[in-house]
Amino acid sequence: DAVRDKSMLALNRAAEENQDVLFVAQRDASIASPMPKDLYRVGTVAKIKQVLKLPNNTIRVLVVGEKRMEISDFIHVSPYFEVEAVPLEEETPDYQMLDALKKVAREHFDSYRKLDKKLSSDMLAGLNPEDDLFKFIYTVANFCYTSDLAKQKLLEMTDVYDQLKNVTEFFAKEGEIIALQKKIAADVRQSIDKNQKEFYLREQIRAIKKELGEDEDELEEYRKKIDQKKLPDYAKEKLNKEIARMEKMNPTSPEAGVCRSYIEWVLELPWNETTKDNVDLVEARRILDEDHYGLEKVKDRIVEFLAVHELTSNYKTPILCFVGPPGVGKTSVVKSIARAAGKKFINMSLGGVRDEAEIRGHRRTYIGSLPGRIINGMKQAGVVNPVFLLDEIDKMTSDFRGDPASALLEVLDPNQNFDFKDHYLEIPYDLSKVMFVATANTVDTIPPALLDRMELIELSGYTYREKTEIAKKYLLPKQIEANGLENDSVKITDEAIESIIEGYTKESGVRNLEREIATVVRKIAVEIVNGSKKKSFSVKKNELEKYLGVRKFTDDENNKEDEVGCATGLAWTRVGGTTLNIEVTLLPSGKGDIILTGSLGDVMKESCRTALSVVRARADKFGILDESFTKNDIHLHFLEGATPKDGPSAGITITTALTSAFSGKKVKSSVAMTGEITLRGNVLPIGGLKEKSLAAYRAGIKTLIIPKGNEKDLADVPSEVKDKLEIIPVSKIDEVLEIALV
Ligand code: ADP
Repeated sequence: DAVRDKSMLALNRAAEENQDVLFVAQRDASIASPMPKDLYRVGTVAKIKQVLKLPNNTIRVLVVGEKRMEISDFIHVSPYFEVEAVPLEEETPDYQMLDALKKVAREHFDSYRKLDKKLSSDMLAGLNPEDDLFKFIYTVANFCYTSDLAKQKLLEMTDVYDQLKNVTEFFAKEGEIIALQKKIAADVRQSIDKNQKEFYLREQIRAIKKELGEDEDELEEYRKKIDQKKLPDYAKEKLNKEIARMEKMNPTSPEAGVCRSYIEWVLELPWNETTKDNVDLVEARRILDEDHYGLEKVKDRIVEFLAVHELTSNYKTPILCFVGPPGVGKTSVVKSIARAAGKKFINMSLGGVRDEAEIRGHRRTYIGSLPGRIINGMKQAGVVNPVFLLDEIDKMTSDFRGDPASALLEVLDPNQNFDFKDHYLEIPYDLSKVMFVATANTVDTIPPALLDRMELIELSGYTYREKTEIAKKYLLPKQIEANGLENDSVKITDEAIESIIEGYTKESGVRNLEREIATVVRKIAVEIVNGSKKKSFSVKKNELEKYLGVRKFTDDENNKEDEVGCATGLAWTRVGGTTLNIEVTLLPSGKGDIILTGSLGDVMKESCRTALSVVRARADKFGILDESFTKNDIHLHFLEGATPKDGPSAGITITTALTSAFSGKKVKSSVAMTGEITLRGNVLPIGGLKEKSLAAYRAGIKTLIIPKGNEKDLADVPSEVKDKLEIIPVSKIDEVLEIALV
């Protein structure tokens, strides 16, 4: 249809004179009176077949396109455009390629037609690029291309191959889009169907339940439980909110599952439930004695603690932390505290905990998130006032996931722990009635802020006699009961127990001793089950190999010979005291370098340099030539027994070994020593004397050299050890060398 005067004039004139018309498109269809710059140059020349005048002053023309032409010049722009035009130069296509493309085009066209139901089939029926290529291209473009620009581009292409390719690509792309649309539509429909089906079934279940009189909704049940349980108002409010949220959810959706487990968690936690404390201190002491041998000071301290705890209405008492080597009874003492105080006992190991979330839980936005260990422990306890053991508090580490110690700090602080915040729980939880107790092997790795909150109670290793008593009175009866045997059916002679301690265990505590005794009892249980006629067993020393196999430790160490360059020190480690053997060898043709082997820290290396200078200062006295210090390399080796803590207490031992190596004098193997050294040769006090003296005693040492400054600590050393060891306090290295060197 033509509307504009310009177009009508041109068409009329052409019709009158029977001339052809060149049709070109406007670049921008919205311009009312276009100028030459607004027109495309390439268009189609057509013959006019018919002109129809329509009533509303427009005309309709029927034309047949003949060929494409390009405007080369505008002759007139008014009253209508008169132009000079030349046919568009066409390139000769590669016919072979074109034939192949025709087949491809046809396939795409066919599948597109099947997909797109909007295409009128009449118009496109019978179209086939293999019959009439141009008709195919132009008709298809006319009907299917929606963008004028795309049509114009197609028109301007001079290679028919490119044109066909353009059309083919169009079908391929559109076909894919339509297919995708269909798939999406189908998916949507399917999910709607499924939800409707579920909803429908659920409604039916509800109806059936109603008929059966079982119409108790889970949400109703929760509401009832909330009413029955004494919860703080804020917790009630929170739960009611969750229930309100749940009401709007599909009960089988994952979100509803998250809500459900949250509600159950909160309901299962103790909020008010308590056990009644035992306030009878005499009875408490009796229970402590019943469970543990010795440990008098520790027991006294515990009874005091319970008294204060009672008087201060249960809270704001400091947190007890039991420190000592493994197997000395730290955990079992805490269990006894719970028993003595009439409280429930919860044990939580902190060993290897490095993530704050382990203490404080994960936010509920995580899939499968849970509360942290504290809240978990409270749920286990079921009451708000249990004894809560924080085991191995020294083995907690921190990394990029946040510091668990800072979370613990909040747990242990009486000013904060009444509203402890767990990430999962979201609402505050009151921990103020919990009696927290901790255990640790060493205080070195406990963060100082935590250490501040705790009162340390040290438990040290046991002597042979103590171990024997513990074995007879506690460990053996416990194992007999655990293995279902009759009371007193198994006895182990004192001699045999001592032999187990010496030959099968090497420890400060009694953990392995308990294990070995358990093995003996178990084997006897097997004998009984196998029909042994004996009613009671008494295990003697010579029978041990039968039950426990060959001895694990021999007393070689005790029968060591005196040697040059070899001295026995004492170290204090996580697992208690231990002997520390130091060897020195001079390597000739060196330049005075020090070589250190064995696992050592920096402080130990410093000690070696100091010790060397101390020895050098005394070279004359021992007849050592000064050149020995510059012409030899010095190799020090620390024998691996247990990795010692990095402390300076090996100072006098290193000095002794060095002096021996340089002077060629032997060191007495029956002597052990501990003490820090200064450049002037003074001997300074050290830590852990009790543990170290026990280690010396276990190793069969006869003479123990200690710093004079440690004399006051001798009060803690068991008298059994003092009886066996000759303990010599010294203040100068010269005294040490006097005693230790042969
Ligand atoms: P820790 O926690 O210090 O590593 P445990 O408390 O696990 O050690 O003690 C190990 C075993 O030794 C336990 O069976 C404990 O009852 C027992 N035990 C330790 N010390 C004593 C003691 N003084 N009297 C009786 N049994 C003891």
